[in-house]
Amino acid sequence: MIPSILPTYNRAPLNFVSGKGAWLTEADGRRFLDLGAGIAVNALGHANPDLVAALTHQANTLWHVSNLYHIGPQQQLADQLVEHTFADTVFFTNSGTESCELAVKMARKFHYENGAPDRTDIITFDGAFHGRSAAGIAASGSEKMTKGFGPLLPGFIHLPFGDHDALTQAAKSPTVGAIMVEPILGEGGIRPLPDACLKGLRDLCDEHGILMILDEIQCGVGRTGKLFAHEWAGITPDIMMVAKGIGGGFPLGAVLATQNAASGMTAGTHGSTYGGNPLGCAVGCKVMDIIANPDFLAEVNRKSSLLRQKLEGLVAGNPAVFEEVRGTGLMLGLKCHASNMDVVQAGYANELLTVPAADNVVRLLPPLNITDAEIDEAIARLEKAAIKVAAHG
Ligand code: PLP
Repeated sequence: MIPSILPTYNRAPLNFVSGKGAWLTEADGRRFLDLGAGIAVNALGHANPDLVAALTHQANTLWHVSNLYHIGPQQQLADQLVEHTFADTVFFTNSGTESCELAVKMARKFHYENGAPDRTDIITFDGAFHGRSAAGIAASGSEKMTKGFGPLLPGFIHLPFGDHDALTQAAKSPTVGAIMVEPILGEGGIRPLPDACLKGLRDLCDEHGILMILDEIQCGVGRTGKLFAHEWAGITPDIMMVAKGIGGGFPLGAVLATQNAASGMTAGTHGSTYGGNPLGCAVGCKVMDIIANPDFLAEVNRKSSLLRQKLEGLVAGNPAVFEEVRGTGLMLGLKCHASNMDVVQAGYANELLTVPAADNVVRLLPPLNITDAEIDEAIARLEKAAIKVAAHG
């Protein structure tokens, strides 16, 4: 008999009933140190008092009115995002996948309105993850994501990750309108695109009139130690997809764009019943207040150096289990020699949560406000997990 929840996830036998900061409490009372943060979502930890206060205040004031009307917290959050980024304009969504859908529509509409209706193709890279909608799976292109779900949305060109020659060749095609890429592949195994590559991509886009779409759904909102990951490379995109951390755990996403890239999206061309609702945006404003503060980001950088240095020690001390540390800021990955799933499960046995990724990687995406003592504790538990894996390997 099919379970009452559609069984599309292989869930761990864990049922968390409450959380505080970087800690989650299981129904049986065990306390787990959370280095997954709901897959890079709980950027400020669980039950953050500032976010709880913002949400509670909004819940007592106004939940929903629809985008038929002006929404104060939505305007405030849009203004904050515009102030702190390259963007001139913002559309709010409820998830990363919805942000992907709009980014695709926006890019195509831009070229359509600019006299190039055939420029519908979007270049993406193997290992990319942009969500599970029709556009999201077509953008990814992998068999794992697409098998059985055809016919797929046409108009995506998939290139091997890091294949510079294939990219320069593909960019010359008159049907290419956009390039969509994650500055750091998340699901794809914490694989950063080097700054020089992002710069090269920007130049290529400028040279051929191609729109650059960055997917910062997982790597954005302070995760890498800058407000958005592309800032490390000193470039700006035309369109950026955001979600996860921006809501700190409340479902919220956004598409940020320049005035030029967004110019085709006039009244009636896109919409969402819930997108930009007062509850999500009130939380988003508070998240931005906290994370966009340079002092906060400086702390993320300090803590990420600390964690990284300790992880390098962990890898050096457990060469049978780990191969290397990857990533930027607090978006780190342990590339494994042993099975990454064995490491994740040994973590569970030691009351530590990590997240598997492709390429045999264990992802570490802790709350950005994890403390130094919690970093020490995380390393101690990872050490125990590694010993357990090595003993059974
Ligand atoms: N893009 C990236 C880079 C992601 O990591 C994810 C989710 O993991 C998505 C898109 C899809 O976001 P959501 O699951 O919120 O729809």
